[in-house]
Amino acid sequence: MKNISYWLDIPYTPRPSLSADITTDVIIIGGGITGVSTAYHCAKQGLRTVLIEKDTIASGSAGKNGGMVVEGFSMDFATAVEKLGLETARDSWNNTIEARKMVQSLIAEYKIDCDFSQPGSLYSVETSEGATWVRKEAATRKSADIECELIEQGIQLKHSPFLLHLFNPMDCMLHPVKFVRGLAEVAERYGAVIFENTKAISFTEHEVMTSVGIISANKVVLCLETSDPSITPAQGRIAREQAIVTEPLTDEQMANIDWPKGGMLWTEEPDYINIRKIGNRLFTSYSISLQPTSDERDQNREQLLEFIHHCLPGLKTQDIAISHCWEGLLFYTERSRPYIGKRNGLYQVYGQGGNGLTHGVLAGKILADSFIGTPIPDLYNLKP
Ligand SMILES: Cc1cc2nc3c(=O)[nH]c(=O)nc-3n(C[C@H](O)[C@H](O)[C@H](O)COP(=O)(O)OP(=O)(O)OC[C@H]3O[C@@H](n4cnc5c(N)ncnc54)[C@H](O)[C@@H]3O)c2cc1C
Repeated sequence: MKNISYWLDIPYTPRPSLSADITTDVIIIGGGITGVSTAYHCAKQGLRTVLIEKDTIASGSAGKNGGMVVEGFSMDFATAVEKLGLETARDSWNNTIEARKMVQSLIAEYKIDCDFSQPGSLYSVETSEGATWVRKEAATRKSADIECELIEQGIQLKHSPFLLHLFNPMDCMLHPVKFVRGLAEVAERYGAVIFENTKAISFTEHEVMTSVGIISANKVVLCLETSDPSITPAQGRIAREQAIVTEPLTDEQMANIDWPKGGMLWTEEPDYINIRKIGNRLFTSYSISLQPTSDERDQNREQLLEFIHHCLPGLKTQDIAISHCWEGLLFYTERSRPYIGKRNGLYQVYGQGGNGLTHGVLAGKILADSFIGTPIPDLYNLKP
């Protein structure tokens, strides 16, 4: 078993590091999906754009996730309507639908080779309470014209504990590292300059200090998610997840995956967790403490295998081997939506939660548009 993200386990030659002082319009710190999208959108608008990444592009959470490009945010739609009101909930949700479409059109327009597919996703429940909740969620989404489909289990599938599924036909899957690195290459085609293995040591409104040079800029943008030093616990919560990818399953094992449709499945029973297919492998991840011990890691890994067995009882855990195991961090804001704005003179985006592949792409566009005069929608201003 390799202790590295499955996605990052591919050959890669990083770009050179910064080697001298430079001046630019926009300097972006952080080469995850948010920073790369910001670089792409800024460069496309003709702004002189530089991005620095302390390690390699997509080496942070952007390269350690499940590669699921889904609509919504860290809250179901019915709860969002109760908490935010119908209009804000619908606008926030619709923005994530636009963001997902943006991901699709970037991949299509620039032919980014990232194993993209659109099999749709399932939200699956196995108890009558869960079914009541799913029916309410589907009805609330439909009342706001949000597309979804209820799938009754009907004829009991041979290898499935579930009663009812909420199917979203539009959700997508991709290889996150190939996607982010592919978009970085597109940003370069528009003139963005990217330095890898270049760490920002300190930053002010117009200056970023690295160990090898100073970058002077009109705008300094932090796309650091969980490494943003200015985020306080009052603004949200950091979580750590442990993820696994299995060795390839046999055709017989794959045939035992009794999903009515879709390439990924979420459930809250027994706990909030998901599984996705990657060809004939499976991915799943689960939360672990922020500073796990090796015993905790072992237990969590066992739990992940048990979870696969629970959702796909046709697969025996003893027959599944893990090929890759890794951990990554997430940041959830109090209001389950990312923050996009300016604070203490610095532009910042954080709080993508478990939806950075969609939110991060949109956040980059919103920020770049704001640099040429389009105000950032109030929706994203968390007034920290
Ligand atoms: C296990 C797991 C599963 C997930 N599954 C999904 C999923 O399926 N779909 C989804 O949409 N989201 C998912 N997420 C969340 C998603 O990965 C994040 O929301 C997303 O990666 C955030 O992107 P980002 O660019 O904002 O941050 P990051 O990807 O963390 O990028 C920040 C970058 O900043 C760099 N950096 C930090 N400090 C400095 C410095 N001083 N100087 C220069 N560079 C610096 C880091 O090296 C890093 O590359 C998952 C997360 C985890 C952990």
